[in-house]
Amino acid sequence: MSAHFPFDNSYARLPEHFFTRQNPVPVAQPRLIAVNEPLAERLGLDLPEDADALAQLFSGNQIPDGAAPLAQVYAGHQFGGWSQQLGDGRAVMLGEVVAPDGARFDIQLKGAGQTPYSRMGDGRAWLGPVLREYIISEAMAALGIPTTRALAAVETGEIVLREGRMPGAIFTRVASSHIRVGTFQFFAARGDTEALQALLDHTIARHYPDAEGPAGLLDAAIGAQAKLIAAWMGVGFIHGVMNTDNMTLSGETIDYGPCAFMDTYHPEMVFSSIDQFGRYAYANQPQIGAWNLAQLATSLLPLMPDRDAAIETFTEAVNGFAGRFDAEWHSVLAAKLGLATVEDGDVALAFDLLNRMTQGGADFTRTFRALSSPTPENAASAFAAPAAFEPWLAEYKARLSRETRPEAERIEAMLPANPALIPRNHRVEEAIQSAVAGDYAPFNRLNAALADPFTDRPDIEDLQLPPTEDERVKQTFCGT
Ligand code: AMP
Ligand code: MG
Repeated sequence: MSAHFPFDNSYARLPEHFFTRQNPVPVAQPRLIAVNEPLAERLGLDLPEDADALAQLFSGNQIPDGAAPLAQVYAGHQFGGWSQQLGDGRAVMLGEVVAPDGARFDIQLKGAGQTPYSRMGDGRAWLGPVLREYIISEAMAALGIPTTRALAAVETGEIVLREGRMPGAIFTRVASSHIRVGTFQFFAARGDTEALQALLDHTIARHYPDAEGPAGLLDAAIGAQAKLIAAWMGVGFIHGVMNTDNMTLSGETIDYGPCAFMDTYHPEMVFSSIDQFGRYAYANQPQIGAWNLAQLATSLLPLMPDRDAAIETFTEAVNGFAGRFDAEWHSVLAAKLGLATVEDGDVALAFDLLNRMTQGGADFTRTFRALSSPTPENAASAFAAPAAFEPWLAEYKARLSRETRPEAERIEAMLPANPALIPRNHRVEEAIQSAVAGDYAPFNRLNAALADPFTDRPDIEDLQLPPTEDERVKQTFCGT
């Protein structure tokens, strides 16, 4: 059976200067690593059963009927500095599929060879970042956080030159769209108002059909990012490279380069090797979100008839991000603490815990998971220095005594807010190292475990544990 994808390529119907038509560059000897069958089914794809046929398909060697392969153009602020021309330099979009429920998704091959936007790059990816994105984006989905998804991964049978000779690989990414803040910036920077209007209409129709005009889209994007960043912070996720070209209009997490989940909590935590000044540190993420949204607002100004009035209303909208984020973040924290009622001191209680976790060197995931039980005192064992935790516990118990919800119900509600399992860096690295050596068992096991992150199971205890000092991964790298 050959592949059938229900394509309907709306982006490819936008004006020709939105992209360059570009086929994936064929690879030598593709070999299937993984295909995400539940996702394929959700998208309504008919896939061949044969691993070789799947490898041909997800390497780009064989292009499914109805595809309209292209590389999108965009711009963006990278670490605050303006790049007027970026684009899919190592990715080719095959097209959009419309799933049986009517939802629309891009299917993109990442590592598919050079495009006009490759600059000095080779257009390829090596196995490490491909497996990282596979593991972490699927873990995010299972955690209930809006994200691009992993449909497949293949080895290319070719060598990619990075720090050394690395095995090449291609990742198949699924996204509600790949429209970025940087896509708007690209056309705004060129004064191409006609294109901006077409992009606005396309984005609204696709993601926010109820939004009215530029102001409506800005408002929707602000709301989506406030929710997304609060959700990240609730699981200790650090995106690591929140450039404006890595922020989607859909509100999905995109670009799993140097991202990481924290083990030990610290608000200033940074993993990315290139984030020297901590611009994208854990606790900076909301401010960066607002900064990026200000760039979106600026890009939308040319579409407004009265520029001065628009500057005023857009400024107010962007300034409103902080309050909207706080509301989302406080509700994430209340859920993590199991508070169904609201009291004045709740936010202070949550922040006090976070401060004590910093002082006491507490594992983020284990602290909250232990609180989601009839014995919250066990959370002390997640602290390197438990003395920091004990005074807080008394306050917490006093607060819980004023909750009207029965304890069993509270705990049941806390479990899905406090995962038992996250993709810990050292486990992700271990899966990659093993795969490079030819053993995919740790990769497969980690993926399978992360599909159900909220249930404690004796067989995954080793994956739940924080790293020992020797195992700790201190730095992560962009996936180039
Ligand atoms: P990223 O760090 O993934 O957000 O990528 C930033 C820009 O660099 C994007 O325009 C990418 O397409 C481009 N890029 C990254 N790696 C490569 C590569 N190996 N070959 C060509 N372009 C690349
Ligand atoms: Mg990117």
